[in-house]
Amino acid sequence: MTIHPSTPIPAGWDQRLLRPGMADFDRSRVVWNGMIDRMPVAILPCRTTDDIRSGILWAAAQGLPVSIKAGGHNVAGHAVGAGSLMLDLSPMRGVTVDPAARTAWVEGGALWQDVDRATQAHGLATPGGLISETGVAGLTLSGGVGWLRSRHGLTVDNLLAAEVVTAQGDIVLTDATHHPDLFWALRGGGGNFGVVSRFCFALHPFGPEVMFCAPIYPASAGAGPIRVWRDFVTRHADVLGSLVEFSTVPESPDYDSAYWGQRCYTIAAVYAGDAAEGETLVAHLRDLGPKVADFSGRMAYCDVQTLFDPLFPTGQYRCYWKSHLMADLSDEMIDEGLANAVANPSDKSISSFWNFGGATARVPAEATAFGDRSFRWMYSLDSVWADPAEDDLVRDWTRAAWTRFRRHAMQGRMYLNFPGLDEDGQDLTRRAHGASYDRLARIKGKWDPGNMFRFNQNILPES
Ligand SMILES: Cc1cc2nc3c(=O)[nH]c(=O)nc-3n(C[C@H](O)[C@H](O)[C@H](O)COP(=O)(O)OP(=O)(O)OC[C@H]3O[C@@H](n4cnc5c(N)ncnc54)[C@H](O)[C@@H]3O)c2cc1C
Repeated sequence: MTIHPSTPIPAGWDQRLLRPGMADFDRSRVVWNGMIDRMPVAILPCRTTDDIRSGILWAAAQGLPVSIKAGGHNVAGHAVGAGSLMLDLSPMRGVTVDPAARTAWVEGGALWQDVDRATQAHGLATPGGLISETGVAGLTLSGGVGWLRSRHGLTVDNLLAAEVVTAQGDIVLTDATHHPDLFWALRGGGGNFGVVSRFCFALHPFGPEVMFCAPIYPASAGAGPIRVWRDFVTRHADVLGSLVEFSTVPESPDYDSAYWGQRCYTIAAVYAGDAAEGETLVAHLRDLGPKVADFSGRMAYCDVQTLFDPLFPTGQYRCYWKSHLMADLSDEMIDEGLANAVANPSDKSISSFWNFGGATARVPAEATAFGDRSFRWMYSLDSVWADPAEDDLVRDWTRAAWTRFRRHAMQGRMYLNFPGLDEDGQDLTRRAHGASYDRLARIKGKWDPGNMFRFNQNILPES
């Protein structure tokens, strides 16, 4: 589908509408996963809430669905809808902090680096993701798992209000008392209900100096250190947001050259409190055997938030991610995770065990659309490779490893920000939302009855 040359374009768009063939059109439709190559009908770079509104009304008049791009990190590439009007929110990255009220209003196209920089200037933070280039919007709307989850919960648990542009073009402010159904649905239901032009988050005193723990052990050290880590972070779930991340030792002088090219794992953690106190606490995790390297130390929170960025460049690699949520982490699961890391056919792949509990677990299931919090662990297989000729090899291997591991997982639950490439479509969305799905479908029916916002883990509107 193309736009007919005689189609009227709103005057306020100032030649901004991007169409196929324009260089900026191709730049704008690039997302993080290099496998995604989709063609919207047109792209509207949005600078204001009014731009979003006029984009939605124009798309409705043309009979086009709308896709929404914030940080472009969705691994399934939902930000770019084939045959849609894509609203590119990347010009909307403003963050306004109220240090006295401890709140921040964040525009819908902001990245986590924008939020971290603006809030850390006041010694404040809200739980975001681990990579500074991830978009605030997509991460928040499906939950949001970051270092501060131990003390402050998921990102959705810190959402106080949102400004939403609906499928009808209305601009709606929602919070716990205004349109509470919509506010509930935004906290876990994804980008189904409208375009969020601004988010308001609660902030907490944290940093600027924090304790980051990151000893790296060779896979040949076996599962022993990981078992110690499991027991340790279980005891300290209120203060340690942590993961064991499996990867391959790069050929870099920062790492012991005896281990170059071998599989390894990082025991990574951030202490959600005073840096000196954290340094003492995590010392135990840094002395569990021979190490490939140790990047632990007291450092600025903004630096911690960018440490993993070089591992995840935009648009360069091909990616297939899948995850499980678990109630416990047995020795058998740890052994299987380690064996999978060693067997992964790509050196670029990562996989990880994430701890939960603490503040995340204290939120009642019905309080947010994210739902049940009884899981205590996540296993994520993040396969990454460069050569298209390896697509089948790596994807099939990852699917098989994920399927084998499923016997350990909480059936039906899944973190929708780490969902694979949507090969399960509606089934996956329905299963992942479980008991919340029917309520979400009713709310979708109220706010987006025509399913204008369908490039997401789609909830079908109940009429
Ligand atoms: C390298 C990398 C690291 C990651 N690390 C973490 C992590 O530490 N913790 C974590 O929880 N997740 C993490 N994720 C997963 C991440 O949360 C999701 O991929 C999320 O979708 C990214 O948000 P985005 O805004 O960049 O997405 P985009 O791809 O821009 O958008 C994804 C979808 O979100 C919706 N959406 C986007 N903007 C809006 C808006 N303004 N209003 C309404 N809907 C909107 C739309 O449905 C859109 O299709 C990571 C992903 C990557 C690739």
